[in-house]
Amino acid sequence: MTARSDPLAFLADELADLRSRHLYRPLRVMSSAQGPIVSVDERRVISLSSNDYLGLTHHPRLRQAALRAVERYGAGSGAVRTIAGTMTLHEELEAELARFKGVEATLTFQSGFAANTGVLAAITGDLDLIVSDALNHASIIDGMRLSKAPRKIYPHADVAALREILAEAEEHGRPESGEPYRLILVVTDGVFSMDGDIAPLPGIVEAAEAHGAAVMVDDAHASGVLGQNGRGSVDHFKLHGRVAIQVGTLSKAVGVLGGYVAGSHDLHDLLTQRARPFLFSTSHPPAVVAACLEAIHVLEDEPHLIDRLWKNTRRFKSELVRLGFDTGASETPITPVMMGDSATAAAFSDRLFAEGVFAQPIVYPTVALDKARIRTIVTAAHTDRQLDQALSAFDLVGHELGLLAG
Ligand code: PMP
Repeated sequence: MTARSDPLAFLADELADLRSRHLYRPLRVMSSAQGPIVSVDERRVISLSSNDYLGLTHHPRLRQAALRAVERYGAGSGAVRTIAGTMTLHEELEAELARFKGVEATLTFQSGFAANTGVLAAITGDLDLIVSDALNHASIIDGMRLSKAPRKIYPHADVAALREILAEAEEHGRPESGEPYRLILVVTDGVFSMDGDIAPLPGIVEAAEAHGAAVMVDDAHASGVLGQNGRGSVDHFKLHGRVAIQVGTLSKAVGVLGGYVAGSHDLHDLLTQRARPFLFSTSHPPAVVAACLEAIHVLEDEPHLIDRLWKNTRRFKSELVRLGFDTGASETPITPVMMGDSATAAAFSDRLFAEGVFAQPIVYPTVALDKARIRTIVTAAHTDRQLDQALSAFDLVGHELGLLAG
């Protein structure tokens, strides 16, 4: 009998391949709390890598709310929402989120990822059509894969192309029968997570309305960032009542963990019966829910945090451009610093780290092969001095690696 070789041996080959193409990134391990300064690999560095836009991950009011919830309700919820895992806290958070967003109802999920996959698979099927922006987030792509609905992809932010797809879908209906689609759902990120550009939502909504389609916007990076008190892209563009489904996350500017779907009572009720992450995965522990609830109140009570976020963003972005860097199409605190190939991006990030700045490279397959970049996010918690230090490091390394002339 011959010894059987390791059936998983191909994993080592795949890893070797990734390493040889500079596409393997080891995990950086943080031994401190999240914040503008973090401890990574035994070093204190300025972090430009978190999604903690407003510094809420370590806000005293959120910490206190989490501690009180642990004391009162314990560490875990113990069940999925539909069995015994719905606590008054969960319902309170959903009511507050609905009030905050100005919608009939919201339903929370364990993450923004779960919210996107959950809602798309639950409400669309083979009678429907999903029309999606080419650069939508992975969780939207996976949600579409889990749905039986056919899908069409329009080039990134191209409203004219979207309009054509919608006109054709409305005119011809479903391919087999010619019957009208039950639902045509246009899905877009509100803010695109790699380029930091804002979706052309007014044009998307007009195109959808002209052809009887509904719109879903994923506001992961707009929640807490765009709109009054961080109400999101629908508020930013004053499109209240014209976007049927809003997804938000509680994991980024809100500072904790989770996602939610905001819309009508019917949408809420159907999701409680059909959305698989809701039905089959345990609900948030009390500390998470209580901290999210407190975060909504902080957004309303402390608008200076959003003002500071945008002030820091404008300064950091304009200084990077003045130094000679290409920051792409960004309009938000997500500021990519374009590097081109993945080897340059990796080398740049490593040199920045040596200079005390933690900013991660983003490479293929997250972005196209020739669009590797350093992705930066400044937060409300960064001081002017920290931003100046980070900019000096970018300037130094940019010259060293020949990306900046002179
Ligand atoms: N949508 C977008 C656009 C995102 O960037 C992310 C997070 N990277 C998500 C959804 C998922 O959110 P969460 O981290 O809460 O799962």
